[in-house]
Amino acid sequence: MHLLLVEDDERLARALTRLLEEDRHVVEHAPDGRTGLDLVTALDGLDAVILDIGLPDMSGLDVARAIRKAGVDVSILMLTARDTVNDRVTGLDAGADDYVVKPFAYQEVSARLRALARRAEPGPRRAQPKLTAGRIELDEAARRVTVNGSAVDLSPREFSLLEALLRHAGMTLTRDQLLDHAWPFSVSVTPNAVDAYVHYLRTKLGEAGGQIETVRGVGYRLADG
Ligand code: CA
Repeated sequence: MHLLLVEDDERLARALTRLLEEDRHVVEHAPDGRTGLDLVTALDGLDAVILDIGLPDMSGLDVARAIRKAGVDVSILMLTARDTVNDRVTGLDAGADDYVVKPFAYQEVSARLRALARRAEPGPRRAQPKLTAGRIELDEAARRVTVNGSAVDLSPREFSLLEALLRHAGMTLTRDQLLDHAWPFSVSVTPNAVDAYVHYLRTKLGEAGGQIETVRGVGYRLADG
């Protein structure tokens, strides 16, 4: 996809651009809202804008409204630092197609972009990517987890952690590896916090929670069946 990233945090912008480019996206970067708006109208064939809400010159919400007002047909994925229902609703009201809450795992952004690309694509929908191990099934595009077919309600962090474990099912991951995979941009999660999130996750997964095995002195492994 041809993407425009509007993000003032240089470090995050660099890291995200690198990962997006590894996934073969073409990425333009704007460090503020005004530059972002100029690029949206100047660039031809832009597929999606990844738009931070907290920008130095204007709110990402205002940027989204301006893009919609100008009638530009482009998908908007909002990055919000505040995990509250109100901000999500406001972002969607402002014209965003979807949102990701900071701190996020790159896989989350990647899955959202795939979903936006599918929506924008004419014709029949492609099959959704699903990760499974034993009784656990995770639908990345729908952000839905089920155990034996029953939905399990996970927080974004628990979801990212389970996604990382499922991607490496059967393999032992250290706490640091889990941090890198599940929350690469997060500064507020420490290796010790991984233990706490694993505990929450096991509890929420109920009988399937036992599939997350502790590898003493190393980390965790998700049993593959
Ligand atoms: Ca920001």
